[in-house]
Amino acid sequence: MPDRAKTEFDGILRPGARRLRQTATREQTFEAVRSVTNTVRSTLGPRGKDKMIEQPDGTVLITNDAATILNSIAVKNSVEALFTDLGAPSSNEPRDGTTMTIVLTGALLREAKALMEQGIHPATVVRGYDRAGVMALKELQDISIDGTVECRTLHQVAETAMTGKGLGIDQSALVDLVLSAVETVERDGMIDTDHIRIVTQPGRAIEESRMLEGAVLREDPVREPMPANIKDAHVLLTSVPLQLSDTSLDTAMKIQDTDSFTRFFQQEDKQIRAIVEHVVDIGANAVLCSSSIADEAQSALSDHDVLGVRRFDDETLSFAAAVLGGTVTSNIMDTTTADLGIGRITRDDDDELFLIEGSGESRVTILIRAPTPEIGEELERHVETVLDLIASVTDGQLVAGGGAVEVELARRVRNRASAVASREQLAVEAFANALETVPQTLAENAGIDPIDALAALQSAHASGERWVGIGTDGATTEMFEQGVIEPTAIKRQAINRAIETARTLLRIDGILTVQELSRLD
Ligand code: ADP
Ligand code: MG
Repeated sequence: MPDRAKTEFDGILRPGARRLRQTATREQTFEAVRSVTNTVRSTLGPRGKDKMIEQPDGTVLITNDAATILNSIAVKNSVEALFTDLGAPSSNEPRDGTTMTIVLTGALLREAKALMEQGIHPATVVRGYDRAGVMALKELQDISIDGTVECRTLHQVAETAMTGKGLGIDQSALVDLVLSAVETVERDGMIDTDHIRIVTQPGRAIEESRMLEGAVLREDPVREPMPANIKDAHVLLTSVPLQLSDTSLDTAMKIQDTDSFTRFFQQEDKQIRAIVEHVVDIGANAVLCSSSIADEAQSALSDHDVLGVRRFDDETLSFAAAVLGGTVTSNIMDTTTADLGIGRITRDDDDELFLIEGSGESRVTILIRAPTPEIGEELERHVETVLDLIASVTDGQLVAGGGAVEVELARRVRNRASAVASREQLAVEAFANALETVPQTLAENAGIDPIDALAALQSAHASGERWVGIGTDGATTEMFEQGVIEPTAIKRQAINRAIETARTLLRIDGILTVQELSRLD
């Protein structure tokens, strides 16, 4: 039974309520962080290994994307859950740098544990980390190179982000696709990633992946025959089903005798045909409906030589609407010619997808092809990562990766530590040690002794070789020359996030279970 500690909780907890003692809580925190960190650290860098994740539905996911791993980990307790939550990027944040964030947080907690064992208060550690963080970010700013963000540099940045994402493919080709997509949608130096859509098609070779201007639909026409290639397409875009409303079906249920039944169905058929006739009258020769198209409507469309495509997600519909410059309608009878999107619809040679090009805004689709759905998903995640990354390199500040930037920051932070007079100095030094875990882990994953590697890097940096890091083969080399380049923004985010997470975790000094909390009433 856990001991009771005297704390501020004593006022609120009923006599007999239990909570974990401070030391037990901290042990649990350190252990949770250690265990989660150990799971992801082996994926860091170009030589990182993949993880196989068994999903609840029985399928297996192979990934080395830290965010995905964090979201899939079966957490053993509330601290692990908290740590994976804090570590994983939210959907609107760049995913790149996630592994580094976890590795750095893990190291900060490991160092904090050692400091606390020497009798240093956690609050002192947190203050020291905050100070070190400010120093590190200032130094990061100073050493960053203002990259002329030319295509070659962007290509290297993208390749660095893709490195180690195994799959034995030519990443350079995928990076090219992303870069041409970015170039196409770029307006005045701004890139709106919403203007780029990623569509994945399994069962094909990765080399067949393409960047296409316009929208792509993976659905088939609702009927044969229907025109599948329309040069001068006038497209009705709707999110409501092409059928009669439910209320008229309710009426059907109340009709008793067969005669009125027949009459009713004839009536219904007529109404659906009237809807389709309206579609034809306003000049549409194609209908894209993200919802369903009833049987009668399908044959009516086919009779009028109008293409019908149904059942895809609403995002695809609004993307197609933007491409075609049309309006998505939710009431077909009120739709007019002005609402129609205008452009061209083409069926691909393999009769598997539609390409929709139009007179609307410039939008592109990155069509990722992969042999299996699993590989497709993994590639999709990497392409998304690279896309976000490139879109985020707006300030043009860059550093060299491969652990070079971390070693340089550690050296500079350590140099400034002596100016900190209090015990916080130890925490500032601990922060520098934690930064060095990044090159050490890269070395370890490349099969090189991490202690030797770090010593070699430290001595190179001490003699002014600022951008020496761990190359793919594990050797120490100049990383800019290797083209291993990363946006400063990614490093800034990783440092901020690691400090924030460490701070949150170090502040926890009691864990109450729900059962115990329910006794607080
Ligand atoms: P993260 O989720 O943090 O992006 P990664 O597995 O992508 O994790 O690894 C990123 C680390 O790998 C960075 O420190 C980066 O500099 C380094 N890295 C990427 N490509 C190379 C390379 N070709 N050689 C050496 N290091 C590299
Ligand atoms: Mg990465």
